[in-house]
Amino acid sequence: MGNPIMMRTPWIWMDGQFVPWEKAQLHVLSHVVHYGSSIFEGLRCYATEDGPAIFRLEDHVRRLFRSCRIYRMEPEVTPPEVQDAICRLILRNGLESAYIRPVVYRGLGTLGLDPRACPIQIAIAAWSWGRYLGEDSARTGVDIKISSWRRLAPDTLPAVAKAGANYMNSQLMKLEALDNGYAEAVALDVDGFVSEGSGENIFIVVDDVLYTPPWDSSVLIGITRDSVMKLARDVGIEVQERRIPRELLYVADEVFLCGTAAEIVPVRSVDHVRVGTVVPGPVTGLIQHRFDELVHGRIDDRRGWLHHLHLPVPIAAFCPVPEIAPC
Ligand code: PMP
Repeated sequence: MGNPIMMRTPWIWMDGQFVPWEKAQLHVLSHVVHYGSSIFEGLRCYATEDGPAIFRLEDHVRRLFRSCRIYRMEPEVTPPEVQDAICRLILRNGLESAYIRPVVYRGLGTLGLDPRACPIQIAIAAWSWGRYLGEDSARTGVDIKISSWRRLAPDTLPAVAKAGANYMNSQLMKLEALDNGYAEAVALDVDGFVSEGSGENIFIVVDDVLYTPPWDSSVLIGITRDSVMKLARDVGIEVQERRIPRELLYVADEVFLCGTAAEIVPVRSVDHVRVGTVVPGPVTGLIQHRFDELVHGRIDDRRGWLHHLHLPVPIAAFCPVPEIAPC
């Protein structure tokens, strides 16, 4: 199972202007290249009957700015300007559905560890991207392992910040999993409790109660995680955020992973121990269904999570440089 193919799109937004895909480049001595000084987000835009709609746009942009604040990286744009740029990028690339990747990074200035001389730059790309853990993953489930790598201890790299550097740890987890024939790894936190996947949060079902690790288990506070908890409570499922001992993964009735790229993916086995009797299990299947209906605009969006893209999108005030024509 490899990564889904990344479809090239005509335009990438960089620091206020749209540039053609192949010209969206940065200098090799940019601070980010050497020290992982970046903050990013991952959003999805879904096709609905009313055209493309971005899921929880404001919440993702808020998390982007919070992550930046932790690292003292203040973008020169405001959250509404980033939202606006994302919307215009989707429309300009003619995308119906897409994965969207904003990234804020420290550019060319110094290679010292005092990064303040480096400009804070921002780019946004969007492309068609299938389910991250495989097209069939939502139906067939995936096999996972407990990583021999731990998730970030809280006084090392802050897990709440979605920083590029955190994903060096994720890559170690992922490579170990793939090398051993698993689709994904879940790491324990510094105290040995279940934390999260390399790019997903985790939920388990035990005796009809849904559990997920709390903020202090070194998890990214996932937006899909929050959506799952709310959708589950809407249908009367009890949800608890609490520390999860590793062995509960082997006896849980259901286990699933969730994240923007992966969406909601049942876990078929953990360390070769089969989970439950059917895939997806009843709670996982119900939540998958509710989530799917919601993001495609088929059930009432009472929380206003879908940001529909209606033409024409107002031109943002922040677009100081003339746009480059496509080549
Ligand atoms: N944990 C990690 C480490 C992730 O990379 C992601 C994906 N962004 C998640 C959890 C899930 O977060 P979200 O639902 O906001 O995409």
